[in-house]
Formats: sequence, structure tokens, C-alpha cells
Amino acid sequence: MRDQYDVIVVGAGPIGSSAARHLADAGHATLIVGPEEPAGFEDHQGVWAGHYDEGRLAHVLEVPLMTCLLTMRSIGRFEALRERTGITFTTPTHSLAVMPRDTGADSRGGNWFDREALSQNARDLGIEVDELDEDDLCREYPSLTLEPGHVALVQRDAFILNPRALVRAELAAATEAGAVLVRDEVAGVEKEDDGVRVTTRSGASWRAGRVVLATGASSNATGLLPRPLLTPTFGATAVLVEVTDPDAVQMPTMMYLKRRGEEVPFGGVVMAPRPYSDGKWYVKVAGGSLLNTPLDSHEEIAAFVRTGGRKEDIDEAYEVLRELLPGREFGAARTWPGIVCATPTERPYIDWADEGGEDGRRIVVAVEGERGAMAADEIGRLAAELAVNGRWKDTVPHEVFKARWTEPGWTTSGWLASMMA
Ligand SMILES: Cc1cc2nc3c(=O)[nH]c(=O)nc-3n(C[C@H](O)[C@H](O)[C@H](O)COP(=O)(O)OP(=O)(O)OC[C@H]3O[C@@H](n4cnc5c(N)ncnc54)[C@H](O)[C@@H]3O)c2cc1C
Repeated sequence: MRDQYDVIVVGAGPIGSSAARHLADAGHATLIVGPEEPAGFEDHQGVWAGHYDEGRLAHVLEVPLMTCLLTMRSIGRFEALRERTGITFTTPTHSLAVMPRDTGADSRGGNWFDREALSQNARDLGIEVDELDEDDLCREYPSLTLEPGHVALVQRDAFILNPRALVRAELAAATEAGAVLVRDEVAGVEKEDDGVRVTTRSGASWRAGRVVLATGASSNATGLLPRPLLTPTFGATAVLVEVTDPDAVQMPTMMYLKRRGEEVPFGGVVMAPRPYSDGKWYVKVAGGSLLNTPLDSHEEIAAFVRTGGRKEDIDEAYEVLRELLPGREFGAARTWPGIVCATPTERPYIDWADEGGEDGRRIVVAVEGERGAMAADEIGRLAAELAVNGRWKDTVPHEVFKARWTEPGWTTSGWLASMMA
């Protein structure tokens, strides 16, 4: 194994594996370092990821226009990646965003359900999205019982993206193109005179001209960044509810902001049934409790992962599903832990992490912790280009993806308290 690479990518999740693939495809000597998914969470100690699951939405019904654009650029390459690797990582679905009729930019649910912005984005990107009133919803989705007074937008050519399979495909393509994959955790990234030295927990060490840090929502907890990124970070709980007759569950994948009077009993995702590695099919419900679990340190992340997720969310999931699909029997439910992080710009950060002027910069960071699976292929490509060229070349200005940094000692809990004040 060589000691010197053009670029070393740290983190083998959706964004890192994509960066490695684009680097290797362009002929650059590429090393990608990141641990495999742990076998379980009960005694978890190390880093965790946002992509340890079988389903993520890939669609344009998201308010940040830029993320939708990056997603469309990524989707445009999915078929070639599937053909090349033989790995299928998408399943067609309707993406249905359901919200109270009077939801606007200022209402509960933040701007995730800003109907006007969602429609406008789809129009800007040339993607067909239809508005459905209550009658349309009853006609088109007769199996669903939605809260009265709710309306929806639907994108009928959306996907459920399997992020684990996407990573398998990106890594297969990357290694086939010559990238070297090492399963280890990086402990140090040190700048040297004309490059960077990367060292792992097990003591291995290599040099590269540049490094891409793609460590997801754990980025601030890795100790690899010179200062904290402004990325509030949270433990996310997905509830997986077993369905024994998945073919009979005719449903779209939904973003659902459910309002009843002044209450918002649910705001999150309900995903159409997907098969999991235990051979069973599950409907996934996630999102309601996100802000309950701010995470700052490596230890806090590991401790949350060991809980397996918030058990209180199971009752909420059953309640949402029983109201949504009345008369249907649901099987056992279990929780699954994930981590997410937000960027106040609502766009990915793809930027330099170090100082040193145009030619002295060596470390690129790429983070999108909320909607990063669907856009990963393009975020990885942009990070790879920045690392290789040393400067930004895309038609979208670099300003759009500039990282925001904060002071040492900054915490998600403190940030949350200031937002709630
Ligand atoms: C419940 C939930 C629902 C979501 N829904 C959607 C959705 O519908 N659509 C969507 O697009 N996105 C969604 N997301 C977000 C999406 O999963 C993330 O944005 C995406 O996983 C980010 O990819 P990443 O490669 O940056 O980070 P990650 O997936 O977190 O991967 C980072 C990798 O870096 C590795 N790493 C960390 N530290 C080190 C280190 N020191 N050395 C080496 N490797 C390291 C980790 O092991 C991990 O493999 C959701 C996330 C969650 C949790």
C-alpha cells in the first residue's frame, strides 16, 4: 500500500464515498478511510452516522432550493451508477407533503411545509408537482385518513433511496476505479509543509496533497476540525413498525405536518414499507422528537446511540399510523438511532476548514446532515473538485456553500436555548 495520495477522504458515508468515487474516476490517487457500520448499538462506543438505514426520501419537496438542485444533479447520475455496479439503491415512490390548508412560511413546522416555496422550487427545477385539496387526497389515496382541513403537494416521480446501498455502490465504483478503502477511524489530520498527514486510531498513517473531511453529523465531535462548525446536532429516532402484508399497504411516502386545533400532534416522515436485513418489512415514522436530544460530544453521541433511540416515540408512531391507515393491523415496533445536524444557511457546507490562502489550503469539509443522502453524489463531487483544483469552479457560486464557524465551547444545547428564548 502506498504512503502518498493525491487526496484522502475521511468518512465513508454517502458524501465521503461519493467524493472518493469522483476523485478515483478522474484518475486521482485516492484513499478513503472510515469504519464499517457497527453490528449493533447496544454497547456502542465509536462514531455513528446518519445513513445507517434502508430508506431516505429523494425528491424536490424541500424548501432549500439549492439542496433540491444538488439532488437533481445526483439523481441524474443514479442510473449510470446502478448500471456500473449492479447495485440498486432506489425504489420509486410518491412523495406527498401533507400540511394544514392555512400553512404558510410563518406557521408551526418551521418552513419545512412552506407550500408556496415547495411549489416554486419544483417549477424552477422543471419537476412536476401537483397540489391536492382534501377531495383530491381522498380520491387519489383512498387508504389514507388524513386530519380534516389538510392539503398536500405530490411529486409522483420521487424515490426512496437506500443510503446503505448507495454507499455500497459508490464504494464499489470508487475501488473499481482505483481508490483504496481502509476500514479505520481517523484520529489526526495534521498539515505539513506541502501536504497533510492523516493518522488512524490503529496507528496507520499516510500523506496526501489534500484531505476531504466527510464525517457527517459527528463532524464537531471528531476532534479533527480546527474550530467548531455552526451545526446544531441532534439524536434522531426512527420507529420501525412491522407490516406483515407490505403489498397491501398502498401508501405514498409522506412528510406530514398534522395540526389539530392549536396542537401539532405530529410533524415528520412516514415512509412506505421497506424490507430490512432481518427479512421483515417496516413502515418508518420519524421526526417528532428531534429537538429533544441535542448532542455535542463524542460521548453524548455514543450514549444516545446505546439507548437505541427514544422509546416514547413508539406510542406516537402507532397513534399516527392507526389514524392514517385505520383498520390495519401493525406488528411490533422498534426504535433505531440516527444523528442529524443542521446548517443555519439551510445549504450544505462545502468549504475549506483550514487557513493558508489560495494555495496553502489543504483541508475541505463537506457537511449536509438533514437532507444529505439524496444530494450526496453531487455534494461529494463538488468537495472532490474543490480538493483537486484548490479553487471553486462550479457555476453555482462558492458563497452558497461557505461554512459558518463558531467559537470553542459552543454547544447545541446552548444554541437551542437561545433559539427558544
Ligand atoms: C432519521 C433520519 C432521516 C433522514 N431523512 C433523510 C431523507 O429523507 N433524505 C435525505 O436526503 N437525507 C435524510 N437524512 C440525512 C442523511 O441521512 C444525511 O444527511 C447523510 O447520511 C449525510 O451523509 P454523510 O456522508 O455526510 O454523513 P454520515 O452518513 O453520517 O456518514 C459519515 C461517515 O463518517 C464516518 N466518520 C465519522 N468520524 C470519522 C472519523 N474520525 N474517521 C473516519 N470516519 C469517520 C462515520 O463512520 C460515517 O460512516 C436523514 C437522517 C436521519 C438520521
